[in-house]
Amino acid sequence: MTLGRVAIALVALAPSIAPAHAAQPGAMVIRKASFGHVEVAATAVETALREGRAAQAAARDVLLLPHVRFGITARSHGKARWVSIASNGSPIYSWAFENTAPGGRPVPPSHALRHEIGHDLFIRHLVPSSREGQYGGDAPDWLDEMAAIAFEGTDVTAMRRREAARLARSGSLIPMDRFLTMVHPELTESPASAVASDGPAYRIRLAASSDTPRFYAMTRAFYDYLVARTGSPAVVAKLADAFRRGERLDAWVLARSGQRNGSASLGALDADLRSWIQSDARYAVATGSPNGG
Ligand SMILES: [Zn+2]
Repeated sequence: MTLGRVAIALVALAPSIAPAHAAQPGAMVIRKASFGHVEVAATAVETALREGRAAQAAARDVLLLPHVRFGITARSHGKARWVSIASNGSPIYSWAFENTAPGGRPVPPSHALRHEIGHDLFIRHLVPSSREGQYGGDAPDWLDEMAAIAFEGTDVTAMRRREAARLARSGSLIPMDRFLTMVHPELTESPASAVASDGPAYRIRLAASSDTPRFYAMTRAFYDYLVARTGSPAVVAKLADAFRRGERLDAWVLARSGQRNGSASLGALDADLRSWIQSDARYAVATGSPNGG
């Protein structure tokens, strides 16, 4: 845990390195919000409030963090780190709402903000990182990613379900024995691009591996499946608890996925997930989409 504390301490130094007022003094609007505050251009206020409220609701429902507080601020060009820490200890997320970046580097759309907040809150409160060179925290990469994907909105979720339904139809879902142990495709394929270039604390990731959409679709489907089997969107928080207790997560999942008899295996879990996808109405709609192929 020592290294994890060092990493968090480095993030905490960010405000002194990149003062918030570097971003266009005078052009920013400050609004209080149920989750904390936003400090962004007038044109971005509604977007920032909407994304912040969605992240707050997901923190409560998915991560069991009902009292989490944070700020959202406009990111000045290439200067501010993704996360800084306010004097009250709350994280402040710095986002390029205007969708421009120096050097032509693509910037994720604003709806990716809540996904990235999910990553940060999971690592900050549930399973921190004690080592360098890993995708998220010490949790398996699929669980790090599941926390973030569970924060996403309806449009992205529908897109991921379409992809998962297509993969299930063609028998191309990632097999569970690989999925539960694999390194995030963004880290294996292209470590240099896994983290944007302007500092280790700026953790916005851009898809670089062809395996990435498949990994995300599988993560979405597995999350929906586990919610259905456990009856709770907080299955992410419960998996994090099990991980912290040192339990094997494959055994934890098998014990809760209907594989309760002596023949429980990851192969049986693959088959159960596939048939669940084919029986779930949200995926059935996606399967019928003319654009699904
Ligand atoms: Zn992610």
